[in-house]
Amino acid sequence: MKRSRPVKKFFIKTYGCQMNELDSEIMVGQLEKKGLTRTLDEKDADLLLFNTCSIRDLAERKVMGKVGTLMRMKHNKPIIGITGCMAMAKKESLLKKLPNIDFVLGTNNISDLSNVLDHVIETGQKTVKTDDAFEENLDYLCAKRDDKIKAHVSIIRGCDKYCTYCVVPYTRGKEVSRSSESIVSEVQMLADKGYKEVTLLGQNVNSYGKDTPENKTLFHDLLYKLDKIEGIDRIRFLTSHPIDITKELMHAIADLPSLCKFVHFPIQAGSSRILRKMHRIYTKEQYFEKVAMLQSIVPGVAIGTDIIVGFPTETEAEFQETYDAFKTIGFSQAFLYTYSPRKGTPAIRWKDDITESVKQDRLHRLMDLYDSVLKVHLEAMLGTCEKVLIEGTTRSGFLKGRTSCWKKAIVQGPSSLIGSIVDVDIHSFNHQTLIGKLAQPAIAFA
Ligand code: SF4
Repeated sequence: MKRSRPVKKFFIKTYGCQMNELDSEIMVGQLEKKGLTRTLDEKDADLLLFNTCSIRDLAERKVMGKVGTLMRMKHNKPIIGITGCMAMAKKESLLKKLPNIDFVLGTNNISDLSNVLDHVIETGQKTVKTDDAFEENLDYLCAKRDDKIKAHVSIIRGCDKYCTYCVVPYTRGKEVSRSSESIVSEVQMLADKGYKEVTLLGQNVNSYGKDTPENKTLFHDLLYKLDKIEGIDRIRFLTSHPIDITKELMHAIADLPSLCKFVHFPIQAGSSRILRKMHRIYTKEQYFEKVAMLQSIVPGVAIGTDIIVGFPTETEAEFQETYDAFKTIGFSQAFLYTYSPRKGTPAIRWKDDITESVKQDRLHRLMDLYDSVLKVHLEAMLGTCEKVLIEGTTRSGFLKGRTSCWKKAIVQGPSSLIGSIVDVDIHSFNHQTLIGKLAQPAIAFA
C-alpha cells in the first residue's frame, strides 16, 4: 500500500570504516539529488538510514540496539533502511530480527538506493537487495562531503584475500577496480573545488588493476597519473596487504612529491604459524624483508599497522613474537585489537580458546609498548620543521592539522591558514600531538 506521508527529510548514521563513510557521502548525494533534505535530528526524519559495519561483534550490537529503540518511535513512522556490511551479512534475516525496518540494501547495491526507496514508498513492501557482485555503475561524483580540504576517493571495492578472521570478502565481494579515467576525473574535480588532500580507499588498494589487466594500469601507474593533478598536494592510501606492496609502488612513494611518506602496512601478527592460520599468505620473515626494502627505497618512511592479539591457539611465546616485531619495526601508528570470532568466517570453526583476560593482558602490554614507541617518534621530531596541512582549529583556538606522516600537530596562527600547508617548527608534544610555532616567515603553500 502506498505510503500516505511524503518522504522529505532523511537522517543517516554511519558505523565502521572510511569506506562506509564514503558510501554514506555518496548516499547523501543521491538522496539530495532526489530532492530530500538531510536532518541531523532522527526524530525529524521521514527516512532513517543506518550504514552498518560487521567487522566486530560490538559494531553489530550497537546497530541492533539503536534500531531496536527506534521501534518505539511510532509517532511519525519513518521508513528505516539498513545498508552496509551488516545488511550483506544478515540479508533477509534482518527483517525477522528487526521487524520495523523497511529495506535492506547491500554494499554492492548503493546505486539502487533511489529505486528501492521509491518501491518501498509506492508499495509499502519490505525490500531486500543484496547482490554478491559489485557492478561498477556508481555515481561517485555525487558524493556530498562535509570536509572541504580532504576527501576519500574509492579506487577498488571488495577483497580476494580471504583472511580467516575477516568478513569483508563475504560482505563486499570480489575485487572490482574502478576505471582510472573515472578516478582521475573525480580527483581533478576535487582539485578544482580546492581540496588539498585525497585518500585513495580500498580494502586492498595494492591490488588495484589486477582484475582489469586490459586497462594496463596497476596501483603505482594510477599514482603517477594522480600526482600530475595540480592542486592536490597530498595523496594517501588505505589499506594495503603486505604481499601486494611492490617495488614499483615503493619507488612511486619515493619519487612522487604528493605521495605521503606513510604506509599502512598491517602485520596482524608476528608469528609465522599464526599468520598461516590467519591466511595472511606471508611469513614473519617475508614481512620483515618487505619492510627493509621499503625503508631502503623510501628513507624515513613511517609505517602503520593493524594487529590482532589472542587469535585462536596463540601462545604466550607467539604473542611475544608480535611484541618483538612491533619493537623492532617501531610502528608509528597502530590499531590494536583483540580477536573476536565473526560468523561466516573460516576462523569461526576454531575454538576461541584464549580467555578474555589473557587477550586483554596482551592488548594492554602492546598498547604500553605503542605508547613508548610513539614517544620515541615524537621526541625525534623535536627541533624539526614539518609541513602541516591546517584542517581547522581546536577548542582552545590553536590551528590543527596533520604532518605528511599522519601525526597530529597544533600551532598558533590566523584562521586564514586553514586549507594551507604551512611550515611548523616543532618544539614539544602532548600525548600524541606535536606542538610548534609557524616557521618565520609563515609560508602557505595553498
Ligand atoms: S586483506 Fe583485509 S579486507 Fe581482505 S580479507 Fe584480509 S583483513 Fe579482510
